[in-house]
Amino acid sequence: MAVAPATLEQDEEEEAVTATIKEFENIKTFEKFHKCRKCQKRVSQGANTKITTCPRCGIIKITNCGLGISASVAVKVENRELTLKMGDQILKKILNHEVIDMDDKTLAEELLFIDKQVTVTYSSNYIVKDIV
Ligand SMILES: [Zn+2]
Repeated sequence: MAVAPATLEQDEEEEAVTATIKEFENIKTFEKFHKCRKCQKRVSQGANTKITTCPRCGIIKITNCGLGISASVAVKVENRELTLKMGDQILKKILNHEVIDMDDKTLAEELLFIDKQVTVTYSSNYIVKDIV
């Protein structure tokens, strides 16, 4: 009978990497956008102020959208440098407060000077999934 080789410690459901951030070095990009309240997908921002299009739900009222933030942040991990993408839900967990009203400068003032170590898990495409 064939015995399956023992797999390395690997999360079955998702391949996530854990890293402890020693320092937040710089915020490379900062974007604020509308997202569909129903499915949380990012929606296109047209000139029309009443409706917009969600890739999953189709045409929706813009009043049914919330705001989202996506920041690309260079961090120091051990002796390496990584650029991680963080959404508003992750930033909220790191800073312990709502971030949706912040702009790039106010976010930088807090994030770059944070004086605690933050351990995160991120996916193969460097999107932070959660705070450990
Ligand atoms: Zn949607």
